[in-house]
Amino acid sequence: MKKILPATLLTVLLVIFAAVPMNVNAAVYQQGVIYVIYDATGEAAPQNMTDLNSNGVPDVIEDIATQINAARELFNGELNFPDPLNCERFQGVTSIEIDIQSKERMTRDNGKSFTGMAYSKVRKNSKHNPNEQALHFRIANTVDPRRNSAPTHEYFHLIQYSSTYFQNKWFVEGMARWSQDAVSKINKYPDGKNVEQILNNETEEEQLFRKSYGASKFLWYPLAVNMNDKVTIPSRLVNKYRYVDGSPVFHDDVFYGPNVMRKTLQVMKSKEELAAASEQYANVGEWRQKGRGDARNNKIIMDCVREVYNSEK
Ligand SMILES: [Zn+2]
Repeated sequence: MKKILPATLLTVLLVIFAAVPMNVNAAVYQQGVIYVIYDATGEAAPQNMTDLNSNGVPDVIEDIATQINAARELFNGELNFPDPLNCERFQGVTSIEIDIQSKERMTRDNGKSFTGMAYSKVRKNSKHNPNEQALHFRIANTVDPRRNSAPTHEYFHLIQYSSTYFQNKWFVEGMARWSQDAVSKINKYPDGKNVEQILNNETEEEQLFRKSYGASKFLWYPLAVNMNDKVTIPSRLVNKYRYVDGSPVFHDDVFYGPNVMRKTLQVMKSKEELAAASEQYANVGEWRQKGRGDARNNKIIMDCVREVYNSEK
């Protein structure tokens, strides 16, 4: 007699296969808690296949993991930002997976050209081990970390998701763009003299709320400079993190703004209940699901920035 798979078992099998869409070309490179999943051949393979240390792994793949581990040790080990692998929101998550994908595919999936994309949804069955949970982001196969800080940007999104559910663009993208300065210096810092005006002027505020990445130069950098928040990256870290070709991950040891950003994230976390109540969500749980990008959050986030700004005066 022919055996028929019970529907429930079939569903379980389908879910498992759907959760592990590993490609036959897929290779996994591990560096600590970071797993980079890439195609060794084909159109999604890294565009630069240089392998200076002849270990069979393209250098850009190792360099992506190195940049993320460097950012991790700086932000979490040194500067006390919330750790995505040790926080309330992502309990039980033990690793971070990075999918390397062709630029065409990322553009197709998102409708825009992106070099990276981070997710707040946990991968319940990680690709490298279906029994482990992972956070994940995507990086385009065109990215060379020696010239591109997209891995730091995407990793910082995971820090933001670990810190607060607020997800308005000028905050999420603007502050993540700021974080890139840890490994790739902007040419010229703003003087920060116009911060008072931005914090106290409705027109400026409205302009800010419409921004995304541009909020970094409009608000976050000026705020960091204005508040004189300048830290030195320890030489231990500067010396430790190098790309395969020997060049340093941290271009110098100056970093503006980490204390201001960390405090802002802390204050934002404390305002989630207030946001939920004032925007008439049933509770903070519903707000976290449906309201985290609500336009009405803008004013609340701005109040958080003001609170941090005024606390240091
Ligand atoms: Zn981003």
